[in-house]
Amino acid sequence: MNMKKRELSKIAMNALTMEQMEMIENADLDILMSVQEISGQELLILNFYEREDIRKGLSTPVLRTFMEKDDYITENLGRPGGKWLTGRLESVIDIGYWHGRKHCAFIDSQSRRSYEKKFGKIEDMQYWYKDIYRWQEKILDRKLDERREKALSHTRRMMEKVPGLPDDFDSWAYEEALSEFHYLVYKPEGKRHIKGYCACCRTEVDLDKSLLKVRRGEKASCPSCGRTATLMPQSARLNGRKEEGFSSYYNNKWLCIFQKTADGFMARYFEAGIEYQHDKTTIARPARYWKRELCRVFYEGNSVESFEYAVYKQRGSEQWCPDTGKINCASAMVYTGNLPDVFTGTDYQYCSVDLLQKSVPGRMIPVWHYMRQYPERKYYEFLIKTGMTDMLFSLIKGNYGYFEKNVVNHDGSSAADFFRVPKRYVRMVLEQKMSLDELRVLQAFIKEGLTFSGDDVKRWSALCSGDTDILATVKTIMPYVSLPRFMAYIEKQTCVPDHSPSCYRIRNVLRDWRDYVGWCRKLKCDLTDPYYILPPDLNKAHDRMQEEHSRLMDKRQRDRDRRIRRKADQIFRKASIGSGYEMSTKDFMIIVPGSADEIRNEGNALHHCVGGYVDRVARGETMILFVRKVSAPDIPFYTLEWNKDHVAQCRGMRNSDMTEDVSAFVQAFERLMLEKAA
Ligand SMILES: [Zn+2]
Repeated sequence: MNMKKRELSKIAMNALTMEQMEMIENADLDILMSVQEISGQELLILNFYEREDIRKGLSTPVLRTFMEKDDYITENLGRPGGKWLTGRLESVIDIGYWHGRKHCAFIDSQSRRSYEKKFGKIEDMQYWYKDIYRWQEKILDRKLDERREKALSHTRRMMEKVPGLPDDFDSWAYEEALSEFHYLVYKPEGKRHIKGYCACCRTEVDLDKSLLKVRRGEKASCPSCGRTATLMPQSARLNGRKEEGFSSYYNNKWLCIFQKTADGFMARYFEAGIEYQHDKTTIARPARYWKRELCRVFYEGNSVESFEYAVYKQRGSEQWCPDTGKINCASAMVYTGNLPDVFTGTDYQYCSVDLLQKSVPGRMIPVWHYMRQYPERKYYEFLIKTGMTDMLFSLIKGNYGYFEKNVVNHDGSSAADFFRVPKRYVRMVLEQKMSLDELRVLQAFIKEGLTFSGDDVKRWSALCSGDTDILATVKTIMPYVSLPRFMAYIEKQTCVPDHSPSCYRIRNVLRDWRDYVGWCRKLKCDLTDPYYILPPDLNKAHDRMQEEHSRLMDKRQRDRDRRIRRKADQIFRKASIGSGYEMSTKDFMIIVPGSADEIRNEGNALHHCVGGYVDRVARGETMILFVRKVSAPDIPFYTLEWNKDHVAQCRGMRNSDMTEDVSAFVQAFERLMLEKAA
């Protein structure tokens, strides 16, 4: 934007006269427009006034659009959406394009002349904006072209730095990286001898069914070159048809190569594969190796810049252009022939990508994210060198759940710090090459003070899908049952003939066991007895204990009710009720609220919803009373709803239920009220 906003802003506002303001009502207009010319036609100002604002007495414009020879900008004078608007006319003022056009007029003939001088004669006032649209569109196109050209010429300069690929890159890709796509395509017809085509040696071969197990997906060694390939039949669809035609196998994989450039190094990402076509006459046409380079990332000093091969901003054909994030090359198999030399002398000198790739041969690694995160997480090198690839991949991909988020300390300065475990456990973590979840289990074991081995950690993680909630319970049985014995027990309980031991099943068993132990405690069972702590049939024991427990709870409830009734009797004999609802004992009292506000305040203080009852109270549909302590009559305590001659509910803080004493008091109150009514 080369227009100087501050200077534009200083230009005096063109205000309407009273007469002009009346125009809008008399002629039934929606928008008025005035046009100012400044220094001839060098700067044109379109002032917009809208009916609603004029009616409110506003004589100054709501928007004014400044137009120079080849640029424009709109000053927003009081509408929401920022002071300066760079959009075109239709996006800054509502001219009623969709719901019937609004009627617009120039305030005077001079304005119209100025307008027509720049945009040409208006044939139909209904479409006054047509030529502005066209004019603004041209400017916008030119600006886009300029921006586009700038981006693309920068891209072209960067592409000049790209070196040639190493001579052995394609053979590495075909022979090594894509080896899982080496097929031995065979014609399924034929009794003992059938025809095949080997992608390793790219020749036709005879296959002897008595020597080979010919089945789709089976590995077999080629009778010609002896290398291992995957058996794949010609398409069955093709064989069933008489007419000519062909079918193909398509596969792909992402490959990545790092190369030195004049100013650092770069990563190049290819999509590659081996395509097989076959028809009625050939076993297979020669396997076709293909690759497309789709992404290039330059690492130069502190700057990382990526480009993709694509159509840029929906225009033109495919070409190298600034990365707009459409390419899916996050994981790729890395060419290691030139590593780690490429990184020498850069910040990535010790990034060990080659070791990482070699630790998982043939697999694609999350190299894109790895390179992005490495500068902040130099400890990745340590994880690679110690073979902790499981944990590394989880950390790179960040594909861990909420509970695993803080398992490691990314800022840790030592291994113990990083793993968040005491120093003496670091060796266990490394020896077991623990995954993120296993480390989480280990941390929980340590926290609960359990006795365990590294194997126990792995077993727990595998068995309980990382569920560590139950460890607090396990801790309490450790004196009687060892961890391995407990896990063996859970494994056994999980084994049900008609159920696969899914993680849900295990979770259910763990939950059942925990509930069961909880009930055992309440029923004061002897948990040191293995028969109780690990019952042979958990299911049965669980149900039995649940029943006993609920019987006990029922009995407790009955006892409580009896106690409350007895207390209520005592209160009832001594207390009396006033003329209204007033009643008090030595402990509690009933207070009638004096206003709707008092009810609302009570609700706010006790965090329950009594405030919502105000309307019903006002209509006389129900009655709200306060139960207070005699020792603190001003402090909200319990709130009672009296409805149709009985206590509908009585709630305390956060809707809590009544204590035994309050319950007895309320019961006595209810009985006294009934007696009074009788
Ligand atoms: Zn072969």
